[in-house]
Amino acid sequence: MTTHDHHNHGHGAASGGCSGHAPKTEDLASAQGDDVTECLVMPGTPVIKSQAEEAGLYRDYQDQRYWLCCDACGPLFDADPERYIAAT
Ligand SMILES: [Zn+2]
Repeated sequence: MTTHDHHNHGHGAASGGCSGHAPKTEDLASAQGDDVTECLVMPGTPVIKSQAEEAGLYRDYQDQRYWLCCDACGPLFDADPERYIAAT
């Protein structure tokens, strides 16, 4: 048996009242690579696109789709979309 936890990259960005919402490791493991992205508002937080879309956690902005990790990130993105997009 081999253990590899290479996707356990430390994410200590617990600011902004948004925590404990990351997808489960097993969900991430079963998701296709193409289906996983990072939350735009909280970079480093993995987001499974299909799950985010089911939950309404995405925004279409200037012909681009952006996925969010949790409910708290929607209003943050809406408040200042340019700021988050500029950071990508
Ligand atoms: Zn979030």
